Amino acid sequence: MGSALPSYEEAAAMVAACAGQLAKSRRSAPAERIALGAAAGRVLAQTIRADLDQPPFARSTRDGFACRAAEASAHEFLSITGSTRAGKAPAGSLQPGSAWEIMTGAPVPEGADAVVMIEHVEVAGDRVRLLPERKVHERENIVAQGAQARAGDELLSAGTAITFAHIALAATCGCASLDVYPRPRVAILTTGDELVPVKSSPAPGQIRNSNAPMLAAMVAAAGGEPRVLPTAKDNTQSLDRSLAQAAEADMLLISGGVSAGKFDLVEPALVRAGAQFHFTGVRIQPGKPLVFGELPARKGHDSQNENDTKYFFGLPGNPVSSAVTFLLFAAPILAALAGNRECGPRFALARLARETDRHAKPGLTRFLPATCNFNPPRGQLPEVELVSWQGSGDLAALARSNCFLVIPEEAARLSAGDIVCILLF
Ligand code: AMP
Ligand code: MG
Repeated sequence: MGSALPSYEEAAAMVAACAGQLAKSRRSAPAERIALGAAAGRVLAQTIRADLDQPPFARSTRDGFACRAAEASAHEFLSITGSTRAGKAPAGSLQPGSAWEIMTGAPVPEGADAVVMIEHVEVAGDRVRLLPERKVHERENIVAQGAQARAGDELLSAGTAITFAHIALAATCGCASLDVYPRPRVAILTTGDELVPVKSSPAPGQIRNSNAPMLAAMVAAAGGEPRVLPTAKDNTQSLDRSLAQAAEADMLLISGGVSAGKFDLVEPALVRAGAQFHFTGVRIQPGKPLVFGELPARKGHDSQNENDTKYFFGLPGNPVSSAVTFLLFAAPILAALAGNRECGPRFALARLARETDRHAKPGLTRFLPATCNFNPPRGQLPEVELVSWQGSGDLAALARSNCFLVIPEEAARLSAGDIVCILLF
């Protein structure tokens, strides 16, 4: 069925359509109230409006003298008739022919239309004038009352993934706590007879289970609450039992067992559990066997899922494949479940540092571990370079990388200096 597989773009569009639907239904989900200090990384479930004008008074942005710009530019002395520091109530008004000493953050007196920096004046006793060559313009060094926002303006809306900037804005609006969406519970089911727990010493033929902690970290970073289930064996009974254990979750990630091998039994187990498949394979590399679909959701009083279905991904077990497919496809669904308005994977442009001997594979979009220098000389694009690797099981290579270089299906050979697309993580 190789040629019938969707391209990366087609698969991404299917996922985006599901994410769009999910995000809509999420808006009616009951919110959790949390302290402002604990809100970073959560998704806002309320509107935040300015309770006061911002700034709440005309504010000086410099230490200096408030004045009328037209009077100051004549370089005549003005008499200093008052002084205001930050934290003091707005002072009286500024009389014609006078100046008012003022500090950064202090309210500008009525009548003043500019603040001259202290560095630009000459003070003689109780008089002040501009230094020669200096000018001052109306509105200079003053932020007018309400210039940033008016009382009642909507400043943040539901669906915002909260960063430090949103926390500062919410603080300014007097919000000591915020309504956020609950974190979706994501069941992580690793499968494979060869897997042993991290603390074990692998016997011949065994390997440690690295996908469980890796996916748990990726889920947490994408706004979900990971629930790692006991690893399933590559047999029917074990897989059926494990899938039943995922019933409580809002979303399910299965790792391994989705390729075409004799013991790749995940798809039939999903069928027995009532799965509908959106796709079973994508024309990408690594990650081609990726499976995406929906299971009937168990609705219960403890479930946060008001949808009829639970989305699942069958991620190929190779660690780099799991990581790439999570970023491209699972993270957007998880973000939507978390109520996050911005669901897509993040791409950027960079300049290829050197020619690669790894070619495009016709018909497959490739996502190869790469390192990008995001701090290039001023004015230059970030510069990216492939990491040498031994294929999609190479965790040391993955750990040396900080992005994936995207090689389009139709790409010819990539040369040094080419502008290329990278997938950020
Ligand atoms: P599979 O997708 O089950 O065919 O597995 C592909 C490759 O990934 C095999 O070499 C597995 O041993 C490896 N693999 C599968 N699951 C994990 C896991 N949880 N942690 C590390 N490697 C894994
Ligand atoms: Mg396997």
